[in-house]
Amino acid sequence: MKWRDSVELALQNLGGSTSLDRLYEEVRAIRVSNNDTTPKSLEAVVRKELEYNSSDSSNWQGDRDLFYSVHGIGMGVWGLRALISETPLAHDIELPETTGEAVRLEVTTNRIIRDTDMTKKVKALHNNECQMCGGFIELPNGQKYVEAHHIIPLGAPHNGPDTPDNIVVVCPNHHAMLDFGCITLSKSLLKNAVGHCISDASISYHNQAIFLSS
Ligand SMILES: [Zn+2]
Repeated sequence: MKWRDSVELALQNLGGSTSLDRLYEEVRAIRVSNNDTTPKSLEAVVRKELEYNSSDSSNWQGDRDLFYSVHGIGMGVWGLRALISETPLAHDIELPETTGEAVRLEVTTNRIIRDTDMTKKVKALHNNECQMCGGFIELPNGQKYVEAHHIIPLGAPHNGPDTPDNIVVVCPNHHAMLDFGCITLSKSLLKNAVGHCISDASISYHNQAIFLSS
């Protein structure tokens, strides 16, 4: 089996994303079971395959873009890019068709749902399932839909960081409950995933500044 295929299969076996240490172990096990070579340089070869086949790396060969680095190169957590899903646009985002006359629309936005390359990666780490309840919305194409909530909100007056440690992956219900300050956050009640750790500062900020106790 080609090295690239061993790495891809290992990531699939490990649920789509994992730390380098677990990846080395799984690649070794796959190669042993296929009677493939397991040289002393196995770890370096695995890292090379990840970088050659990832547009996140400056060593990308430009051919296949199979892997993504979760927190940037050097942070030791990698995933399968095929599992990062593009969220389709909701139907109500399209403007109504007009008959030539200009239509004046008044739009009020009370909540903002952001989906960036980084939040897609963090959602993929959690297999697109809510960290609070395990729930998600199943879209017509079979894809799981969840949202990324910035615990310390971005922008004034909160100015939270746009980093994975300030993000919790949640279903739309839990997202709204967090945005509106209906519920507290507790790290011990959140589902964990390798490669994603929420900062204690973000959790405390939510409970002290966002949660509205009645
Ligand atoms: Zn939920």
